[in-house]
Amino acid sequence: MKVFAKDQVVFDFSKANAPVYFVEAGETFWVETDDCYSGQIKTEKVLRPDIDISIMDCSVGPIAVNGAEPGDVLCVEVLAIQLAEQGVMVTSPGLGVLGEKITKAHTKIIPIKNGFAEFNERIKLPLTPMIGVLGVAPAEGSVHCAVPGDHGSNMDTKLVKVGSRVYLPVFVSGANMALGDLHACMGDGELSGTGIETAGRVCLKVDVIKKQKLQRPMLETAEAVYTLASKNDINEAIKTAVNDMVEFLMLKKDLDFADAYRLLSAACDIQISQLVNETITVRVKAPKLDLQLQSVF
Ligand code: CA
Ligand code: ZN
Repeated sequence: MKVFAKDQVVFDFSKANAPVYFVEAGETFWVETDDCYSGQIKTEKVLRPDIDISIMDCSVGPIAVNGAEPGDVLCVEVLAIQLAEQGVMVTSPGLGVLGEKITKAHTKIIPIKNGFAEFNERIKLPLTPMIGVLGVAPAEGSVHCAVPGDHGSNMDTKLVKVGSRVYLPVFVSGANMALGDLHACMGDGELSGTGIETAGRVCLKVDVIKKQKLQRPMLETAEAVYTLASKNDINEAIKTAVNDMVEFLMLKKDLDFADAYRLLSAACDIQISQLVNETITVRVKAPKLDLQLQSVF
């Protein structure tokens, strides 16, 4: 199985970045990644304001998927996530929902051992490994890896985890996927501004669904299907994700708008993936059992 090393990274998603790794549709492979600080914070002496921000938010890739063409959908299945032996959580003035209450920067190193993140002597958190950044090259322009959008990227969605499938629109030949920003644990919203940031390796399987209309990322777990929307205004993000789900239900369940809208209200949940970046990501969850959906496409 191919293993893609973490030294080939991009800092933005752009069709100008030539692919460095290559896979076939249907291929399973490993990707090694550094943490979102490019490994600059290894001890509690290093503070967030001290690091070189120009090498933050690196993503490994681009990985070209043979046969993926604009107008197709890339299906990325997460098969395994292996974490490094420690993670880091920084606090820094301005960071997160209550950032104004932080007066000085502080770094906490959190050991990762035996399935737990050892937050302190009394608190051990069961690991919930997830991929913060997973995206493809957009049709035009260049988008920094910290900024989520219709091309995926820094969605910071805790459901990008083992067993999930992420569906991304393909905008350029080969899709030119990249990923990074693993978290050992993170709750919805990423409220203090970071997850337990860690390096690691990820096993993925990619498939190409030919000529399938998709405007923005969707996600599928064993239990549910999700639409995801990232916008600077939270209300706009909610409206977009809700509209995407209504259109999905209309198509999949053969309903008119009013009935799909009612079904949305009766069975679906709005959730917040990421609240603390400038661009916010929300998702709408449609439970699979109730809707008898077998798979997204
Ligand atoms: Ca992130
Ligand atoms: Zn992160």
